[in-house]
Amino acid sequence: MTVASHKPQDKDALANAFRRKAAREREARQTAERLLEDKSLELFKVNESLLAAQARLEQTVSEIANERDRVVRMSKTDFLTQLPNRAAVLEKLRQDLKTHDQGDHEFDPETWLVLILLQRFKRINGVLGQIGGDRLIKAVGERIRSATDDTDMAARFSGTEFALILSGGKAKLKATLDRVSRALEKPFMVDGKEITVEYALAAAGSKLAGSDVDQMRAAVDSTISRSRRCGSGNVEIYDETICNELREREDMERALKDAIGRDEIVPWFQPIVMSRDSRSICLEALARWPTGGVLVSPDKFLPIARDLGLWEELNEHLFATACTQAKPWVESGHVGDLSFNISPAQLVRSNFVMRLQALLERTGFPPDHLILEITENVLIENPTFAAEQMHDLHALGIKIAVDDFGTGYSNLGSLIGLPIDAVKIDRSLVWEMEHDNRAAMLIGTLVQWARAINVSVVAEGVETETQALLLRALGCDRLQGYLFGRAMSAKNIETRMPELLSFVGAENAAAIVA
Ligand code: C2E
Ligand code: CA
Ligand code: CA
Repeated sequence: MTVASHKPQDKDALANAFRRKAAREREARQTAERLLEDKSLELFKVNESLLAAQARLEQTVSEIANERDRVVRMSKTDFLTQLPNRAAVLEKLRQDLKTHDQGDHEFDPETWLVLILLQRFKRINGVLGQIGGDRLIKAVGERIRSATDDTDMAARFSGTEFALILSGGKAKLKATLDRVSRALEKPFMVDGKEITVEYALAAAGSKLAGSDVDQMRAAVDSTISRSRRCGSGNVEIYDETICNELREREDMERALKDAIGRDEIVPWFQPIVMSRDSRSICLEALARWPTGGVLVSPDKFLPIARDLGLWEELNEHLFATACTQAKPWVESGHVGDLSFNISPAQLVRSNFVMRLQALLERTGFPPDHLILEITENVLIENPTFAAEQMHDLHALGIKIAVDDFGTGYSNLGSLIGLPIDAVKIDRSLVWEMEHDNRAAMLIGTLVQWARAINVSVVAEGVETETQALLLRALGCDRLQGYLFGRAMSAKNIETRMPELLSFVGAENAAAIVA
């Protein structure tokens, strides 16, 4: 039997082997630990930079949000007064109308839209200059703001218009309007000058106007129109009367649109008799709207057509119809000239002459038998371009008459150099003639002046024999008025032509005057 025995050298070798193994293991562990440490350091760093990136991102997001808020604020703030602007008013109005409970009872709160219109501001700009005018607007804005409760909005609505949006009963509205009025009554000091502003105030409440932004605006617009007509400092609140006027206007707008679409507005013709020649007459075409058995006056419907943007379409239709109807009368020699009214806005439209020429060609109406009537104000407001257009019209053979002469501001001298063929003395001057000798003298002077520069004179609004005799004696070339006939339809002109041609000529008038 063998007995195992360990020699001393074997023991040492074993111990060495253990030590080496332990050392290797320690080293491996240390390496692993080092690696782990490195990795966690790396991770720590990655985490740190992620956190930094996140913080940067958050800052950028908040900067963008701030910038967006600033832009939104700016887009709703008036730069000059720092008050909310038109966009802000409309937004708040929309929100208030939606969220506020608008009860029916008299004392229930409602939403009010108030307009404050500064009038004749051009005059103030003339005194203060543009910069001074801006300072005044700013000061007005400050006074309006301080006259309004903090919970309500005071805003600049447009150049010379401020707006308030209030919530509450009529008593609160009246108190606010009162404070605003008092604030604006006091003079302003701008650049060492004392300035008093002229203004009109109007308010509309949602109970009567309706809880829709457009209805509120239409209501306050018609209220401010009424208020401004009543002079400075006037305050109007939208009521049943204005409400009915607005409804009438809306009905009229609808009916007018339909009438224009169906060509129901037609030219009628008023005779103009010659002082020295009874072989022919002239005619002025005047727009007529026969509806429901009545004739609506052009003074009523033409401004509405203009506001609706239908003016041009309507005028071209009237012009073409008048030319077509009057052409055979001109060709027969019974009618000398056909007069047609042109609004200042039409005359200064760049393609006006071209379009008119096209209409003349289409209808075959001879241009040298056409007179266009314009008013003096176009010559004052836009003299250079108006003159250019007039020269172009003249080059086509068309004649030009200045309408309502004697009522505007231009002097006779300002007409020299313009291609004018006739002036039409306004009917107010003709009426005055019988009551005031100076009117007759003025007409006499006008006729002499017109003769000197080869311009003929038409007197309008002749209603009595006396006026006709006087005007003929003073030398007016043509007479127009109810004495000879009102505007009539094309059919009536044809049937009444012999009678119209029978009006006395100059020789007879001179004999009567003598
Ligand atoms: P207007 O050009 O001064 O036309 C003369 C106006 O005086 C016409 O009123 C005519 O009916 C009226 N009238 C004529 N004789 C007398 C008279 O003896 N006594 C009185 N009290 N009035 C007389 P109407 O037809 O109501 O026209 C008003 C204005 O509407 C015209 O004033 C003219 O500016 C404008 N208008 C009329 N038709 C047209 C048109 O087709 N186009 C343009 N652009 N304007 C037109
Ligand atoms: Ca006229
Ligand atoms: Ca006239």
